[in-house]
Amino acid sequence: MKITAAVVPARSAPFEIQQLDLTGPQPDEVLVRIVASGMCHTDLHARDGYFANLPYPIVCGHEGAGIVEEVGAAVTDLMPGDPVVISFPWCGECEPCAAGHISYCANARALKSGGKRADGSTPISRNGAPVYSCFFQQSSFATFAVAPAKDVVKIRRDAPIEMLGPLGCGLQTGAGAVLNVMRPREGQSLVVFGVGGVGLAGLMAGRIAGCDPIVAVDRLPARLVLARELGATHALESRGAETLAHIRKITGGGAHFALETSAVPAVFRLAVDALRGLGTCVLVGSARAGTEVSIEMPWLQGGRTVRGVIQGDSNPREFIPRLVDLFMEGRFPLDRLVTSYDFADINRAAADATSGAAIKPVLKLPH
Ligand SMILES: [Zn+2]
Ligand SMILES: [Zn+2]
Repeated sequence: MKITAAVVPARSAPFEIQQLDLTGPQPDEVLVRIVASGMCHTDLHARDGYFANLPYPIVCGHEGAGIVEEVGAAVTDLMPGDPVVISFPWCGECEPCAAGHISYCANARALKSGGKRADGSTPISRNGAPVYSCFFQQSSFATFAVAPAKDVVKIRRDAPIEMLGPLGCGLQTGAGAVLNVMRPREGQSLVVFGVGGVGLAGLMAGRIAGCDPIVAVDRLPARLVLARELGATHALESRGAETLAHIRKITGGGAHFALETSAVPAVFRLAVDALRGLGTCVLVGSARAGTEVSIEMPWLQGGRTVRGVIQGDSNPREFIPRLVDLFMEGRFPLDRLVTSYDFADINRAAADATSGAAIKPVLKLPH
């Protein structure tokens, strides 16, 4: 079938809207009519060549939301007409997958940025020549996408599907880091470093868990204003040692939990230094390979934990419907983070994501 998709023709080149050909779903896949797709910084990292194994030209996009158009012969738990969010890929066969920790799948790298299906095939082509796709096994910057059925999450019909794509990656990353990994008790303190889409999702989750105080730290004043509106009790502009002193005062000696979303080494160090004894810092920001940070060893010995988390440690088929319920109850107002763009304006959306003018761009696909 013919699709309209945004192609990155070569490393660091702008997105280009093209007409391409897409083959139908394999037996274990579904074909989804994409209504809207979130844009995540990972898409821009892919455009700019952060992934060593990424081939070009490629169709990116990994926060797709839409309606199931067709299901493969072996798919029994989804039907045409189902509203769905497409989440991250996992192999189902490696040790982490077998243990239920699917976001740490040992084969994730190839499945996310190899440009192909696990079997090496590519469903997208142009005039007979393959265009790499299968970005996160979905490539949702397109009017239609095929995805493994197991990565696809059915969404309640009364929810606004055009808003929910970001739950597939960025928002479940932040919310899951708090609700699935930190699991704070009511009244424990949370400091969020970097209040973009991931950080704000973590902040909203902290409010759901009853964290108090909730401190937002960022370099952009406009984001701090929004963070206050979404539940931060305190908002601090990022200023190194001065910020650390403020956090220690606000939290009565250090935070129970710190969420690091910026992937900036100096900020990560600040997040670790902001912990009280027995406190936990969760790192979710993705830095380029080779990025290092120094941490004082005696500080860690004070019972402090530093751990990295991917995709909020979540099982999307359980966690995303839970977040949708919270959204529908008004307790997880993700609509406040979303800026909608026409698909044709994808390069403007990318520029706004980079500058911080948009927290979570969502592209509306034309049909
Ligand atoms: Zn796996
Ligand atoms: Zn992402």
